[in-house]
Amino acid sequence: MTILKKCLKTTDMDLINFPQNDKRKMEFHKKYRHVGISYPGVPKGWVPIFERAIVAIEKEMWPGWMSFHLKRLIHWLATGNSVVCIKFRWAERLRNFCTHGQMITDIKEKYATLRIYGHFREDINKIIREAETECEKTCEECGNTEDVKINDGGWLYNLCPACTETIL
Ligand SMILES: [Zn+2]
Repeated sequence: MTILKKCLKTTDMDLINFPQNDKRKMEFHKKYRHVGISYPGVPKGWVPIFERAIVAIEKEMWPGWMSFHLKRLIHWLATGNSVVCIKFRWAERLRNFCTHGQMITDIKEKYATLRIYGHFREDINKIIREAETECEKTCEECGNTEDVKINDGGWLYNLCPACTETIL
């Protein structure tokens, strides 16, 4: 198992070891899919930071008076829930009007930090920078914030001392 773990990225390890967590993440993702993400591969130690950021981004991105159902419907009509296609041109214009053209196009772990890509104005950029900084100080495996360092075990991990012992 140790060798297998080393060969897999942390996100893939999540899928193998924590299917119950994964189901909860899918439900969160479905509720907030109108921010634009495809299913994100976020290490489990960073999930609370990530989810807080998505909630804050959603509030900045869409008008507060709209229901989640309406926002998801507009997003779906505009994009077909894909970040690479336009379903209906009029719906895309409506989505752009509601969100000022803001959308998340990708979320990933890169070089042991969380990255959120897309088209954003300054307020959302600020939320993203804060989340990225918080992830840098947080163990991606357990969420611990003490003595977290980037380790190289074939892949780069951002880990606390205890998780470094277990994983690498
Ligand atoms: Zn840890």
